[in-house]
Amino acid sequence: MKQSRLFTKTRKEVPADEVAKNAQLLIRAGYVYKEMAGVYAYLPLGLMVLEKIKGIIREEMDALGGQELIMTSLQRKEVWERTDRWSDEAVDVWFKSTLNAGGDIGFGWSHEEPIAEMMKNYITSYKDLPIAVYQFQTKLRNELRAKSGVMRGREFVMKDMYSFSVGEEDHTQFYNAVIDAYTRVFDRLGIGEDTFVTFASGGAFTKFSHEFQTVTDAGEDVIYINREKGIAINAEVLSDDSLNDLGVSRDELTEVKTAEVGNIFNFGRQKAEDVGLSYRSESGEDVPVWMGSYGIGVTRLLGVLVEKFSDDRGISWPASVAPFTVHLVELSGGDRELKDFADGIYQGLLDRGIEALYDDRDVRAGEKFADSDLMGLPYRVIIGKRTKEEGKFEIVERATGEVTLLSEDELYEKFVTSVSK
Ligand code: ATP
Ligand code: MG
Repeated sequence: MKQSRLFTKTRKEVPADEVAKNAQLLIRAGYVYKEMAGVYAYLPLGLMVLEKIKGIIREEMDALGGQELIMTSLQRKEVWERTDRWSDEAVDVWFKSTLNAGGDIGFGWSHEEPIAEMMKNYITSYKDLPIAVYQFQTKLRNELRAKSGVMRGREFVMKDMYSFSVGEEDHTQFYNAVIDAYTRVFDRLGIGEDTFVTFASGGAFTKFSHEFQTVTDAGEDVIYINREKGIAINAEVLSDDSLNDLGVSRDELTEVKTAEVGNIFNFGRQKAEDVGLSYRSESGEDVPVWMGSYGIGVTRLLGVLVEKFSDDRGISWPASVAPFTVHLVELSGGDRELKDFADGIYQGLLDRGIEALYDDRDVRAGEKFADSDLMGLPYRVIIGKRTKEEGKFEIVERATGEVTLLSEDELYEKFVTSVSK
């Protein structure tokens, strides 16, 4: 993409009403637009990153046999009344409205009940199971606090998956497979080392739910970890009792600040019982379905990545989610021949399927470099006078600042490999 055509512009000044680093950088670099507190629009560059994150998650959910769908934002009151979760006392983040035609509706803050309700139409026999479905959905939650930038939105994208199984064995196997798949997702996003499968509250069938917590000072949670033993416990469930359960003592644990990037729940048969979702077993009995619910905060992840991969100059995207791999920066300074040469290299990158943002703007070198640092693409390729004369391209790696000189062929070679990786 040619940067001269990108309608978003970078901003030097930090938005006055934004305290979170992730939102400050994302707004300044032109990835997101703040509509109001906790409500952000995703601009072309931001959408590209979101789509990359979703792509990684989608691959892993599909590998589990997940089938993608999309549920509705407008929800029926009756569906939530059945499980006693319609009232504002039970759920304190509801947005609700009334239809002109009469009747109350809720805006989807979660889809557990509606999806279980819907599945009554598709699950009748044990032969219909197992099923796993998932979606990327904009959730609406009337959050009291919205000071963490895109990490806590009143409107945010979640991936939520739901599993429906016949028996405990199948169910547990799938639940554990999801833990592995989530681990792969966070590895691929570059935060695997700092993301912990954490014992947390909210267990229904089981004592704990499992949260995926990523270490960052920008997080709102506190957990206790032991890296060697691979144990992590959310502060909210830390007690002598739970320490005992997990076979770990308090002095073996270190306190860290984290952001919850995922949360999975093992409902056992409870949810299906509450909702009335059952299947006909082989022996002809009606039995409640075993259910699990598995969330990942997609837009929160975007914020977490910025918090973790940025410095005083701007963002530094992991290659797996960067909107483009290469930031091609021409410093022709009005030299027609040099500009044509740079155009040719840009075309060469495109022809090979290498994702490149081409800074073809007629602005000073310093401004181009500052913008490039702020926007955070993994590699900057500079085309100046000497590049054309000596046939050497300067490649600067954003994360390390490491500079390499490559010939034109080596340049393509380097990034073609990164495409196929
Ligand atoms: P939190 O404790 O942070 O409020 P939650 O436990 O209410 O989150 P879940 O219902 O478990 O959230 O939702 C699944 C995932 O969606 C969370 O793990 C988190 O990554 C993400 N998420 C939840 N609330 C928000 C929000 N307001 N903005 C952005 N992402 C969110
Ligand atoms: Mg949660």
